[in-house]
Amino acid sequence: MIALTIDIMTLFPDTVSAVLGESIIGKAQSNGIVKINCHQIRDYTTNKQKQVDDYPYGGGMGMVMQIQPLYDCWKHICDEAGERLHTIYMSPQGKVFKQEDAKRLKRDYDRFIIVCGHYEGVDERFIEQCVDEEISIGDFVLTGGEIPAMAVADSVCRLVPGVLADEDCFTDESHWSGLLEYPHYSRPQVWNGSEVPEVLRSGHHANIAKWRRKQALKRTMLKRPDMFEKFVPDKADKKLLAEIEKEMQE
Ligand code: SAM
Repeated sequence: MIALTIDIMTLFPDTVSAVLGESIIGKAQSNGIVKINCHQIRDYTTNKQKQVDDYPYGGGMGMVMQIQPLYDCWKHICDEAGERLHTIYMSPQGKVFKQEDAKRLKRDYDRFIIVCGHYEGVDERFIEQCVDEEISIGDFVLTGGEIPAMAVADSVCRLVPGVLADEDCFTDESHWSGLLEYPHYSRPQVWNGSEVPEVLRSGHHANIAKWRRKQALKRTMLKRPDMFEKFVPDKADKKLLAEIEKEMQE
């Protein structure tokens, strides 16, 4: 049974389908766990030229995506779903996307719409009438919402049971519980004089887990002091942090 359906409204459905049809998300779609429908907004225009944009009222640079094709595309998706679907507009003016939002979207919805803007963006009335939340992928501006939409879709889909091999694949990862993940190594054992830490070759599971936790604490402290400040260590973490502090002083 399909656990999650995402409808992406875009001017570039082939590009989005191609990217999300590859690798892990592509396999999850083939296995019927998630479904990503890409809708061509241009198909909903009522003019012969299939034009989706027009000049902005008030003048100024750039073009604006008109409300009519956006609204008709959105309504078609909701009518087909038989309900008014939760709708996200990708926008540099939105709330910056975090792992918490990926968790929330996966928990709260089994189907939602993502709208990709282009040009100067979409007619404001579409946002007022059809959009439930605006999401940004960071404080910078891209030419279109396709890359942000793919990032959001990927991060939510990978949390759906069965998409990854095991839940540990994401609960161990950076940003899941306020820490960055520990470092990884694979073969060969030695590369350009640099050796894989001995503990990882020991086969001693408790020591490996302890080493990994310590590394996660240390790299969060060094790489992301903003995250580390908010992290609440437990008794075992405090012990590891004391060891880290001692080692850093030596
Ligand atoms: N004129 C808009 C502004 O200044 O806020 C920017 C429009 S941008 C050139 C075109 C489209 O790209 C937007 O409608 C949005 O869908 C997408 N986009 C650009 N940057 C983004 C970001 N950081 N996060 C999410 N979407 C973004």
